[in-house]
This record gives sequence, structure tokens and C-alpha cells, in this order.
Amino acid sequence: MTVKHLGQITDEIIDNWAKEYEQRADGFHCRNCGSQIGQVTCHVSIHIKEFEPTCAGPGKVVPINFPFCPKCDGDIEYATACYHIPLWRSYVVLPGSNFICIPVKGGQK
Ligand SMILES: [Zn+2]
Repeated sequence: MTVKHLGQITDEIIDNWAKEYEQRADGFHCRNCGSQIGQVTCHVSIHIKEFEPTCAGPGKVVPINFPFCPKCDGDIEYATACYHIPLWRSYVVLPGSNFICIPVKGGQK
């Protein structure tokens, strides 16, 4: 079991996760090997864009689904990432298979 560190992710990166796989009647499949795609939780730390290049934020962590190929990507236990939002955004919406809307404390300006 390994932990996958994705670094900073964006809406575009999250959108592209699903596009990398082939959708069939019984779910998503790997374009390389045809294996059925699994998913683990990706723990996303919310950081404030204005603090860049530093990764700093209110300490909020949002779980989202991370799809992966059990054969090509190996045995992943969970993933970690961070997501940078501007200070004026008072909530976080991350795309993906389940849309999550979580208020961030002190997020509005
Ligand atoms: Zn594969």
C-alpha cells in the first residue's frame, strides 16, 4: 500500500482524471490495460491563493474521490493534494464524481 502525493491540483486536473479513462457500461476502464478503475479518498488541503508560493491555509481538508488503475498505478491506500482558492471565495467547490461544497472559515473578504 502506498500513499500518492499529487501536489497542487486545479479544477482542470480534477476534470482530466475521468477523461483519462474509458467509460463503459460497467464503469471506467484503464486505456492502457483495460482494468477496471478503482477509487480511493484524496485528502485535499485547502490553501489560500494569496499566500503563494507558500502552501498555507485555514487547515481545512476536503475529501474527494481519486480514480486510479490498480494495475498501472499500483496499490494506493489514499492520495493527498492541495487546492488553492482566492481569499474572496467563501466556499470550496471541487469537481469530480461527487460535488462537495464546504464552507471555509475566514474565507470571505
Ligand atoms: Zn492500467
